[in-house]
Amino acid sequence: MDISYIINHLGEEREQYFNAVAPPVIQTSNFFFKDVDSLRSGFANEQDAHIYTRGNNPTVEILRKKIAALAGAEDALVFSSGVAAIAAAVMANVQQGDHVVCVNRPYSWTNKLLNNYLPRFGVTATMIDGTDTANFVNAIKPNTKILFLESPNSFTFELQDIAAVVKIAKEKNIVTIIDNSYCTSLGQRCIEMGIDIEVHSATKYYGGHSDVVAGYLMSSKAMVKKIFATELLNMGAIISPNDAWLMLRSLRTLPIRLEKIKDTTEKMVGFMELHPQVEKVLYPFSKSFPQYALAQKQMQWCGGLFTAFIKAKNIAEVELFCNSLKRFLMAVSWGGHESLIMPAAAFMAKNNDAPAYGYNAIRFYIGLENAEDLTSDLQNAFRKIE
Ligand SMILES: *Cc1c(COP(=O)(O)O)cnc(C)c1O
Repeated sequence: MDISYIINHLGEEREQYFNAVAPPVIQTSNFFFKDVDSLRSGFANEQDAHIYTRGNNPTVEILRKKIAALAGAEDALVFSSGVAAIAAAVMANVQQGDHVVCVNRPYSWTNKLLNNYLPRFGVTATMIDGTDTANFVNAIKPNTKILFLESPNSFTFELQDIAAVVKIAKEKNIVTIIDNSYCTSLGQRCIEMGIDIEVHSATKYYGGHSDVVAGYLMSSKAMVKKIFATELLNMGAIISPNDAWLMLRSLRTLPIRLEKIKDTTEKMVGFMELHPQVEKVLYPFSKSFPQYALAQKQMQWCGGLFTAFIKAKNIAEVELFCNSLKRFLMAVSWGGHESLIMPAAAFMAKNNDAPAYGYNAIRFYIGLENAEDLTSDLQNAFRKIE
């Protein structure tokens, strides 16, 4: 995989648009045909033809080619959000009476899709602890059609042994789907490990600037054709040409952003692990991480997210610490240029006298700022709760 070629040149047919270096935003809903025969052949190959922008659009198509190649997949689809990509991948592969096995603590809307939404249509799910591969074997039923993985997840970072789960699924002819948002296709080679469908919240690292919501799905030609003709065209959760253009622009800097984020994150994790006011840190590439060996085996890159449990006596102290940070914005999401915090205490009642386990957990996301600024900000906040 020549990442540099894919990002800078693949799919860009510059002679077709005035030798412009940057691709055009083909802001059109519709395309005309010069004769009946060309229209007929368009219909025969709809996912690659230019007929109507709810299907395929030339600006979106450049993006599809690049993200498929980056993942080592045959083809890809782009959606208007990560959850649209996730829902399409799942719904295209189940019907009434079918069953899905999914790992515990997936992204919240994946959980709601499987446990609230799809049961309305007779599709059920079993949630398992995916850190032990045997739990997949035990949960599979005769009507199981999908094993849904998310490795690592985005708060506590549990991993699944991807190659081992793929082996089980292939023996039983079950489709595997992985949410690979944490690592991106550059950081974890899911398709090469045998996963059938890789999905992403492209809002995170792929977009990288906190200004576009988008979703990616990478798979085989046959699977993409199936999803295109059903969930993509029926639900219509497509990306606009303009947003696809922004996502192409973001892709140019993906590898250098990931490199910088990893460097700074390692510094920040090191700082937190040695800090006397920190109880523990969860980060998959830390030697203390419970699944460190597996992380080293199957991940090429570890991201900007880690969770630190700070030494705070109560929720009020956690709040004081978080409210004192100036360089970290308090917000959901991650993957952009700006560093963020998400305290678990925000999900708990204020002034809880007997805080639940994890009340002192704070998820950090490290963006593109420099490590010194971020550390001195943390140091100031720690002093407030000394
Ligand atoms: C944010 C996120 C999603 C949802 O993506 P959207 O682009 O917000 O729809 C899915 N999975 C993970 C792991 C996420 O972090």
